Amino acid sequence: MLCCDEFSRFLQVLESSENTFEISGLAIEQIAGKLGIGKVSSNFCLAPTSTTPHGQREDIVLFSKVGVVTGEPCYEKSYRTAEGALVVYSVWQDGSASRLWTEEDLKDIDTVLDLVYLHNGRFRLIGKMKEIVMTNYLTGLPNSGGFITRLRKHFEEGNLADYAGFCFNLKGFGLTNRRFGKREGDNILKRYAKFLDGFVEEDEILSHFGGDNFAALIQKGRVQEFLNILSGTVIYGTIEGRRVPVRVEAVAGVMMIEDSLQSPGQVVDCCQLALQLAKNHMNKPYLFATDEMRAKILWEKQISSHFRDALQNNEFVIYYQPKVDTKTYTLIGAEALVRWYWDGKIVSPADFIPLVEREGTVTELDLYVLEQTCTDIKDWLRRGFEPVTVSVNFSRRDISDPLLAQKIVNIIDRSGIDRKYIQIEVTETTSEEETAKLIQFLNLMHNMNIETAIDDFGSGYSSLNTLRNFMVNVIKIDRSFISNDCITQKDEIVLHNIVDMAKELDIKVVTEGVEHLNQLQLLQKIGCYTIQGFLFDRPMPRFEFEERLEKKKYDRKLLNEAN
Ligand code: C2E
Ligand code: MG
Ligand code: MG
Repeated sequence: MLCCDEFSRFLQVLESSENTFEISGLAIEQIAGKLGIGKVSSNFCLAPTSTTPHGQREDIVLFSKVGVVTGEPCYEKSYRTAEGALVVYSVWQDGSASRLWTEEDLKDIDTVLDLVYLHNGRFRLIGKMKEIVMTNYLTGLPNSGGFITRLRKHFEEGNLADYAGFCFNLKGFGLTNRRFGKREGDNILKRYAKFLDGFVEEDEILSHFGGDNFAALIQKGRVQEFLNILSGTVIYGTIEGRRVPVRVEAVAGVMMIEDSLQSPGQVVDCCQLALQLAKNHMNKPYLFATDEMRAKILWEKQISSHFRDALQNNEFVIYYQPKVDTKTYTLIGAEALVRWYWDGKIVSPADFIPLVEREGTVTELDLYVLEQTCTDIKDWLRRGFEPVTVSVNFSRRDISDPLLAQKIVNIIDRSGIDRKYIQIEVTETTSEEETAKLIQFLNLMHNMNIETAIDDFGSGYSSLNTLRNFMVNVIKIDRSFISNDCITQKDEIVLHNIVDMAKELDIKVVTEGVEHLNQLQLLQKIGCYTIQGFLFDRPMPRFEFEERLEKKKYDRKLLNEAN
């Protein structure tokens, strides 16, 4: 009979790993000597199913003391699993044992088998769960997780560069769904997946990411053949019991994998990007990923993995670009523009803002910029500079946060500076839903006495409705408005009217991107006097901006000479 210590050693070993039958053997070894066990085997038998038509049998020797076990087992115990499989454990007595098993020994063996069964059952369930998690429920093909797992296997075996990766999407499958109904649409997808699976060889992978999105890994020598299939394949669908042909066409992003690939995940990223470009921009049936796309993806990966640390490490630095009143040539404001000091380089916002906007992390950055700006203003006040109002950019993404206005006010007030020193810049929104949120945000800002500006006015999305519907203090006319080589009379009329209308509505106008004297003269002629542009100053670090703050005046003569 086993003592408590022996049982707990057995359990300890059994629980030390959840995923191998070997562990059962090692655990049995702990108690085999005491109980006189020579061998234990497990026989697993699953009844035939649609996926395993011949049933499934598995014989495993869990423990064996070499050379001493022969003949029939001395003890057997069987279990029926939840899936209906029969598991039979057989136990042989050690031939060299000096005595026969007692009642109590048999009870112990019984308990040991129960525990081994539970352990192995758990292992089988985990395996099954992993399989389910990695499989698309509709087609039974590996899903994106399954695809990456298999890619990784090729990557680790060092042969991924023998293949090309594919991401593809079915053209107009929404129409097919509408024509055949959702259920038959699913059947068509299943038939299509089965057809493609027939082409795919053992070492290749076909994956169904969900919906009408698929991926594949195909030998390089078979890429063209696969593209031909993707360009159009006829599957059948049924309507009212009639079989009708359906032509399924796909758009694909393809990547010829190279040895230099750093991680298997890049295959999917590159193929997705190429697919997106093929679909949205070029309207092509397929596009091969280029080095440029690869570089972009690598860059984006670096940004997203480093962004949070960068915020913590204060790698984001605020530059200030002056706004000048050109009636008096006086500094009257500034815009806070963020720069990323990364690895000895300065990264400009155009290179990372769009990505952090997409990833939804931009709010953290914008609030950080606001906080730093408030700290700088506070410091200027302390040191006796008379600060100007500084505008801080907030991304369109930020506006969806209903608490944004409160967060902004909290930061300003906590810094102890007057709210008049901060202005919030936002761009026009594109959808009705966003517009409603923007209106609400602008009203809240107005009620809290914080100035707002509509950025990039006239750059595409903004409209004259902006002036009517939004409670804003300033519109910033986009540089594209005045950056044409020659500003036509029509441009001039439009600009003139915008400025006049804004004035009547008591909205201030700033024009940004002013680089040349002739642009300035035109703007002055039509009554737009507040200018932000390289003509006066580029965005500059804080210490340089402090010189402007101190002086406040711009030398008109120097400006004329410089141009
Ligand atoms: P923006 O808010 O419209 O800022 C004006 C951009 O025009 C700045 O580019 C500025 O350097 C540039 N600019 C100003 N004057 C001239 C000129 O005379 N000629 C030319 N060619 N360009 C001029 P920057 O600093 O590269 O910023 C680009 C954009 O990145 C900004 O456009 C803004 O949308 C975004 N951004 C910058 N900082 C932040 C930030 O803290 N948060 C968010 N959400 N976006 C920011
Ligand atoms: Mg701006
Ligand atoms: Mg702008």
